[in-house]
Amino acid sequence: MTDFVELRSDTFSQPTAAMRQAIANAVVGDDMVGEDPTVNELERRMGQLLGKPAAVYLCSGSQSNQSAIWAHCAPGDELLIESHGHIAEYESGGPAVLRGVSLRRIAGQGGMLTVDDLAPRLRGVNQHVPTQTLLCVENTTNIGGGRVWPFDQFRDVCDWAHRSGLKVHLDGARLFNAVVASGVPAADWAAEVDSVSICFSKGLGCPMGSILVGSEEVIAKARRARKIFGGALRQSGMMAASAMYALDHHIDRLAEDHAHARALAEGIADLPSISVSLDEVETNMVFIHVCPEWGTAEQFAAALEAEGVKLYDIDARRLRAVLHLDVTRADVDRAIIAFRKVAESEPPKAS
Ligand SMILES: *Cc1c(COP(=O)(O)O)cnc(C)c1O
Repeated sequence: MTDFVELRSDTFSQPTAAMRQAIANAVVGDDMVGEDPTVNELERRMGQLLGKPAAVYLCSGSQSNQSAIWAHCAPGDELLIESHGHIAEYESGGPAVLRGVSLRRIAGQGGMLTVDDLAPRLRGVNQHVPTQTLLCVENTTNIGGGRVWPFDQFRDVCDWAHRSGLKVHLDGARLFNAVVASGVPAADWAAEVDSVSICFSKGLGCPMGSILVGSEEVIAKARRARKIFGGALRQSGMMAASAMYALDHHIDRLAEDHAHARALAEGIADLPSISVSLDEVETNMVFIHVCPEWGTAEQFAAALEAEGVKLYDIDARRLRAVLHLDVTRADVDRAIIAFRKVAESEPPKAS
């Protein structure tokens, strides 16, 4: 369908013909009054899958994370988050705008934190300091590198947070990638936290939609936030049907994206001008470091695009390639050839 290899993000994945059929056949109602049977079924199913009593279907991952923050926090509160977290970097300052919540950004490794990273950043309770109410964690990490938390580390951090009086929100935009890569079931990750957000629009291949799961109390508040944010919809069962289809057909196949990521990483690991840390390729993302002698990541991305491969430069030195259901093994081979051609080419002329 396209004459280039799309590695910018798994959000570029297109709904399949079968998914479109499921959307067309959806039985729908008015979800804003709780009468869309497909949305209701999706919320019931996700609560059950994650072992939480309640769930709410939302438009996007950002809306889902922000609704969770709205539910857990009050104005003036502070949340703790790893410095590269999506909530900190890519949600337009939502916590400040929507809830008057400030962020305490904490440097971690691979987008993940340890108790040693966190403990010194806990504030006491007194009139001078903001009230810390929430820890946000990400799994898999995105800008952290597509990494999966070691489960023991995840449990230790969540236990510490709860002992310290914090709630924990899991931004599980790609939680199913973590489930498939680690073999740890979704419910085990969810059991450690107070709320979980999952995107259907990433590797699961849906056109849109996210789910937030948690206690009845938290989800009731989040449902109110969804309405305030303008995200309560009517016949959204059309889109919930795509999510139901993805749960049945697009979870196990994430292993294929992970295998493709590994094949890409291994295929370019020995090239000059770039470097890839093979140990850090755990799911569907490959981060590529561009050596300064060659040029910038932006220049490398432009050269790759001329060879028919699209990906994002995420900072001056790093490129990110994301594998997904529209990228075949043949596409990966084509991308490897393009990488070789660019990596072995003369550095671009300084402009
Ligand atoms: C994509 C993503 C989100 C949500 O993004 P939307 O574009 O709002 O759906 C949240 N967290 C992480 C880690 C993501 O990768």
